Amino acid sequence: MSEPAFHRVLLKVSGEALLGDRGFGVDPAIVTRIAQELHDVRELGVEVAVVVGGGNFIRGVSASALGVDRVVADHMGMLATIINALALQDAIEIREIAEPFIRRRVIRHLEKGRIVVLAGGTGNPYFSTDTAAALRAMEVRAEVILKATKVDGVFDADPQKVPDAKMISRINYLEVLSRGLAVMDTTAISLCMDNNLPIIVFNLNVPGNLKRVILGEKIGSLVAR
Ligand code: UDP
Repeated sequence: MSEPAFHRVLLKVSGEALLGDRGFGVDPAIVTRIAQELHDVRELGVEVAVVVGGGNFIRGVSASALGVDRVVADHMGMLATIINALALQDAIEIREIAEPFIRRRVIRHLEKGRIVVLAGGTGNPYFSTDTAAALRAMEVRAEVILKATKVDGVFDADPQKVPDAKMISRINYLEVLSRGLAVMDTTAISLCMDNNLPIIVFNLNVPGNLKRVILGEKIGSLVAR
């Protein structure tokens, strides 16, 4: 069997990825499948931290457009990430509900082979869980951010709207920013750029893809220097 390409990774799962075919909330079947995939890569000896989003329940920007104070809306968004983390946590049988993010502790959990689910974003309004993913990846010294999406990678236009949108297999950070490509928000991309942290964007809806990425198969898109 081939060797993993990475030793420690940070997987970013957006709230949307947990929706399945629903308009709102969490699809237990999807959560179970993601948990199974996490187990599979864990079996390869790879350490995995997961940052979960909350967009399947609420996004600060959208709620504030409807009149909720932005900071309150962001706090609601961060609470939504905690609901998602509980759903994932339940599926991968971690018994504690949560503990505060203490860097050395998280690293210790990872070293012991535990899958660590990180909820609550950065804890600050005006940020996103993509930025939390970039920040935590750096803090725990993950080698790469695996950004799970429902399309195959980075495209030159939205593939769900533009039928002949082309997938880009490798792109640098500045180009993502200057072309305004929807990989992650600009704060997250800048943080990765400043710290030279690669991002692999891949389709988590294809069963087995997480393992493929971890084994170094060239699927998805690489954002790097
Ligand atoms: N959020 C925040 N600070 C953070 C992370 C998230 O205020 O550090 C709020 C923000 O309102 C955001 C919501 O939580 O819209 C849900 O997170 P995000 O939109 O990143 O979720 P995803 O798109 O990944 O599902």
